[in-house]
Amino acid sequence: MNLLGRAVVTFLPLVPRRVVGYISRSYIAGETLDDGIAQVRALGEEGCTASLDILGEEVKRAEETEVITRHYLEALARIRSSGVVSNISIKPTALGLNLDPDLCETNLRSLLTRARESGNFVRIDMEDSGMTTATLDLYRRLRADFDNVGVVLQAYLKRSMEDIETLKALKVNVRICKGIYIESPEIAWKDRQRIRDSYMEMVEALLSSGCFVGIATHDRQLVERSFDLIDRLKLVQDRYEFQMLLGVGSALRREIITAGHRMRVYVPFGADWYSYSTRRLKENPAIAGHVFRDFFSIRS
Ligand SMILES: Cc1cc2nc3c(=O)[nH]c(=O)nc-3n(C[C@H](O)[C@H](O)[C@H](O)COP(=O)(O)OP(=O)(O)OC[C@H]3O[C@@H](n4cnc5c(N)ncnc54)[C@H](O)[C@@H]3O)c2cc1C
Repeated sequence: MNLLGRAVVTFLPLVPRRVVGYISRSYIAGETLDDGIAQVRALGEEGCTASLDILGEEVKRAEETEVITRHYLEALARIRSSGVVSNISIKPTALGLNLDPDLCETNLRSLLTRARESGNFVRIDMEDSGMTTATLDLYRRLRADFDNVGVVLQAYLKRSMEDIETLKALKVNVRICKGIYIESPEIAWKDRQRIRDSYMEMVEALLSSGCFVGIATHDRQLVERSFDLIDRLKLVQDRYEFQMLLGVGSALRREIITAGHRMRVYVPFGADWYSYSTRRLKENPAIAGHVFRDFFSIRS
């Protein structure tokens, strides 16, 4: 898989932007907020809720974080006025976490305040391990004042079970994912099955302590193990939801909905789709492999 991914990334600069755009079309709602809202509406017709993510390049100046915050405020307003069911997901570095944590906190507080006014919710995505401690510290400060904020923990990080121990008393709302960044074996599990076992251990620890869990995966084994866990713990639907990325695993998504579980789809959109897509593919060539295989298996 990595070989395929690396090959796709190597040849990416030769691929016309139009073609990258065509391939990205399944994974990105479009360039504008209208595109994002239209996608959320279509997902609603399939029985899914959504989380809108505004794509952006790396921010280098405080003013850029203010622009992104304004775009998210507009998104919250449009979600409310259009009546679609969606929350928002934000990357803390896009709001300034690695420039100035206080600036990031101020930006997030304004989003959380606006979201609370309309009964909405803000999810703080988790980025690479250099950001984990700062993100969780920020989350704890916000959680003290807001009920409508959630965070993400990554199953490949060896520290995650300890993080759960310190977070669960706060009755947190956590998305669990495997983790998408390339991390060193000193801090991250590398074995596929070990990551899955860690994933399920984390989901069980959080659900058993009364936390809400977003089970974010397209891995059938994890979905089936989660079904068993939900049965065993006799959980009602408002304690968890499944989450998937736009354009990935549509057949499994339908199966989960048909089985009577809630499904939220992560919907990225934004004018920066091209630089964002190519940067993410270069950061982790394994995604390029997934995208390439998915693209050709859908069409073969
Ligand atoms: C809703 C959601 C939010 C996420 N938020 C974060 C986050 O905040 N931080 C973070 O580090 N990671 C995040 N991720 C990514 C996650 O960490 C994984 O990298 C990704 O979901 C792949 O893991 P998997 O559990 O689907 O299993 P895998 O075994 O990697 O994938 C299972 C199958 O799904 C398909 N697939 C998976 N990912 C893709 C893709 N990108 N494109 C095309 N096909 C794919 C492939 O066919 C693959 O065989 C998120 C994922 C989801 C679903």
